[in-house]
Amino acid sequence: MRGVVMYAPGDVRVEEREDPSIVDATDAIVRLTATCICGSDLWPYRGIEPVDHTPMGHEYVGVVEEIGSDVKNVKVGDFVVGSFVISDNTCEICRSGYQSQCVHRTFVAQIGTQAEKARIPYADGTLVATPGQPTEDQVRHLLAASDVLGTGWYAAVAAAAAPGKTVAVVGDGAVGLMAILAAKQLGAERIIAMSRHPERQALARHFGATDIVEERGEDGVAKIKELTGGLGAHSVVEAVGTQEAFMQAVGATRGGGHMGYVGVNYEVQIPGIQLFFAGIHTEGGPAPVRRFLPDLIQLIWDGTIEPGRVFDLTLPLEEAAAGYKAMDERRATKVLLTL
Ligand SMILES: [Zn+2]
Repeated sequence: MRGVVMYAPGDVRVEEREDPSIVDATDAIVRLTATCICGSDLWPYRGIEPVDHTPMGHEYVGVVEEIGSDVKNVKVGDFVVGSFVISDNTCEICRSGYQSQCVHRTFVAQIGTQAEKARIPYADGTLVATPGQPTEDQVRHLLAASDVLGTGWYAAVAAAAAPGKTVAVVGDGAVGLMAILAAKQLGAERIIAMSRHPERQALARHFGATDIVEERGEDGVAKIKELTGGLGAHSVVEAVGTQEAFMQAVGATRGGGHMGYVGVNYEVQIPGIQLFFAGIHTEGGPAPVRRFLPDLIQLIWDGTIEPGRVFDLTLPLEEAAAGYKAMDERRATKVLLTL
């Protein structure tokens, strides 16, 4: 099969990889219909995370081609959406809704789903079948659910977005935009997008933002306070993962408010005393997308949400390198790869 391999930072190639086959009885082989490039794929691309001839990709939708003898919940021919974290969905952690911390957790990134096929372990726990075969348009929306929509949704839930609340979203990448969509669905009264890019501001408004704040850092915090009667937002989503963005989110959250942080924060150092005196609820980490998948699939199936609008560049898998380059240079928010 064809698949994306990152040889070294900045060096992305599409080449022949070995076809996956069933290893464990709980595995499924999925023939991918579409895949995509994630903002987190830019960490190795930029040399921040180690990379050496690494198969890439962790977002996927497709058709089940083969199942192991213990797989019961999905069958051959099903169209499935999977989380970017493998989970059994039966252990105590999974049952509490934190499938991204499953005792059998592995990251799909280790499998590499920017490819024609993928072996998905714990298929019963990880994959969710759609009500039927999706249209091409639905495929885009469902693919977003595999990571960015699920992650944005988790961030909004962690930030306790709800009716009557003001939600501020730090970050206008795909996850930030999806958190805006989620906050709107969760009934937030006011949604403030923190963004400087006109085209992303437009998309933010499309997904439900009511206000745009262009200021960053301390100025951004001051602006959020100004918009909220000096209190700060009830709910703040951090969807970047830099020091400035993280502290901006802490500062923008009102005392007793909630902050959901989902930006992968390799370089962030949190000053304990600042967090202490902020007096806020915080929850973050890799999103338990599996918790939300059945509901998200239904919302997409009913046409209630169109998260696939976050993909602003579509390329064939063979042109993955151009997709990475476009995202690295911020010419694209999120790239869909067709198969
Ligand atoms: Zn589990």
